[in-house]
Amino acid sequence: MNQKFQQKKDFKCKEHPQESAIFWCKSADCHENRIFCIQCQKLQKHYKHFNEDVDEINKLNQFLITKSQNSKDLIKDSKIQLQQTALSLQYLISGLQFHSVDWKTKQMNSTLINNQQHLSLRFYLMR
Ligand SMILES: [Zn+2]
Ligand SMILES: [Zn+2]
Repeated sequence: MNQKFQQKKDFKCKEHPQESAIFWCKSADCHENRIFCIQCQKLQKHYKHFNEDVDEINKLNQFLITKSQNSKDLIKDSKIQLQQTALSLQYLISGLQFHSVDWKTKQMNSTLINNQQHLSLRFYLMR
């Protein structure tokens, strides 16, 4: 027999430890043992939840894989968003630095031109 199948069969019902759990209940307001056996089912413990919320135990794995995949995707998305934010912040900072350097250069140039004009004016007056 398949090893994985055997592991799945090892799920035991909490209330009936001699029984293998073969159903699970995903109802949000279920207060019963979520993973349960045929005995529980016969006692109609999840009777109100049965139709849409109770599934076979062998579908639990797939459900959990899908759920964990979703949360992995969420983490991946958040990381990408964080990287993009950091990147645009970097652009913003380098843009600001560029502008402030540009502004300083312009200021320095205009001071230089003013000084030259003063100098030439002096020379003119001295003659
Ligand atoms: Zn239930
Ligand atoms: Zn049970």
